[in-house]
Amino acid sequence: MAFTEYERLSPNHGPETHERLGVLFHHSQMGFEETITRMLDPASQVSYHCLIAGDGTRCTLVRDTVVAWHAGKSEFLGRSRCNDFMLGLAFAGDTYRSPITESQMASLLEWLGSRWAPLSLSLDRLSDHRQVAPGRKQDLNPSQWDRLIRTLADHFGAPAP
Ligand SMILES: [Zn+2]
Repeated sequence: MAFTEYERLSPNHGPETHERLGVLFHHSQMGFEETITRMLDPASQVSYHCLIAGDGTRCTLVRDTVVAWHAGKSEFLGRSRCNDFMLGLAFAGDTYRSPITESQMASLLEWLGSRWAPLSLSLDRLSDHRQVAPGRKQDLNPSQWDRLIRTLADHFGAPAP
């Protein structure tokens, strides 16, 4: 593994019943350390499964098999409550202020690469917070979402939807 990954487990989570049907992308708006601090605070009631810093360092906040609290009211794959079945992956920072870094993208490919086949992931099992909670959430910047999905299509050898 080329990028550092470590665990700082958040108290903000549901049961160990996560269905792992897909991945929902976010940006955290705040910086890496600041976001981790917020997610370790029980008062915030929020968590991602994984947060990726600008330099590609990854922090696991909730293990994949456990429900994290990242989506709120949301719909995808014809269902509501995305937290039950979508892993939450966040890029530290704000994708409207600065693009996903090359290191973040490469680190994501590592993270996703170890899950792609085991979870039978495909491009149509990926979305972002903006699309599953329209009008309520803005992450990711649409241009960065397009860039992300094109990169993943190239990497995993499937056409972009
Ligand atoms: Zn979000």
